[in-house]
Amino acid sequence: AKHLGRDQVCAYSQEDMLRVEDRRMLGARLRAALQAGELYLDFQPQVCASSGRMLGFEALLRWRSPELGLVMPDRFIAVAEGMGLMPELGQWVLDHACAQMRAWIDGGLADGLVMAVNVAAQQVQRPDFAEHVTDTLQRHGLEPAQLELEFTESSLMENIERALQSIHRLSASGVRLAFDDFGTGYSSLSYLRQFKVDRLKIDKSFVHDLPDDEDSVAIARTIIAVGHQLQMDVVAEGVETPEQARLLRALGCDVLQGYLIGYPMNAPAAGDWLRGHPAG
Ligand code: C2E
Ligand code: CA
Ligand code: CA
Ligand code: CA
Repeated sequence: AKHLGRDQVCAYSQEDMLRVEDRRMLGARLRAALQAGELYLDFQPQVCASSGRMLGFEALLRWRSPELGLVMPDRFIAVAEGMGLMPELGQWVLDHACAQMRAWIDGGLADGLVMAVNVAAQQVQRPDFAEHVTDTLQRHGLEPAQLELEFTESSLMENIERALQSIHRLSASGVRLAFDDFGTGYSSLSYLRQFKVDRLKIDKSFVHDLPDDEDSVAIARTIIAVGHQLQMDVVAEGVETPEQARLLRALGCDVLQGYLIGYPMNAPAAGDWLRGHPAG
């Protein structure tokens, strides 16, 4: 609420109003978009920091709307969460990422590769989430170790008990788990003890100012040390320059992801990428 003076409170500023309108409009269209086939996935490569070997892709959701053009997830994921649409949307992403993986494996392109998929709070909070994941893997004939699920701290903190249950079940099933945007939340270290995961992803905001900004170097070095101490691999996202890559390699970072290595690509382009960067 904005205070306009004595006793006068206006519920929304004009800017908020636009945002509310935008959300309402996006929300109404998003529901239909799922049915109309307007959603698709881009795939961004992840490579071994030391050898450059192709390790896998992160699946990133896209919405191509006839009226709105290409809408990026930063604009519509929060809207979908607000509408309670995220379990459905998230299941769509998981299903399509697994189907794509299956197709690439059948084409001899993806042996040993891992598909990373983002998971929203509303998904991990569901008691049947782990079962959903294993069902989806089975349906596509994939091994659990071929899937990595990326969680943000806030998605787990919304209901720790429920999240822990899902995480334990997924971990026991052999699915790989990663902490996304690591270091941007509030309770990063304490939750590392509770949630045993396989990987930490250094947020791109920390990678951005490498190698010149000393504080960013210290943070990257610290995250890598913490990860390795706890037997986790560390992934750097948002790697855009050779200087960033060189420093991350020198600090012992395990995996690189970012425009320097490859932009997010649609499925045909990602398939071409795999032909040029064989796995294994
Ligand atoms: P994220 O998980 O941190 O994903 C990485 C974002 O960084 C992606 O943006 C990617 O395109 C972008 N990126 C990759 N390399 C670089 C780089 O070198 N430089 C810069 N500046 N950016 C780079 P995108 O695709 O717009 O996704 C934004 C966020 O939306 C994601 O952030 C993720 O939190 C969320 N998201 C995307 N797809 C899904 C999904 O299927 N489910 C859920 N729950 N969230 C998703
Ligand atoms: Ca992610
Ligand atoms: Ca991230
Ligand atoms: Ca991020």
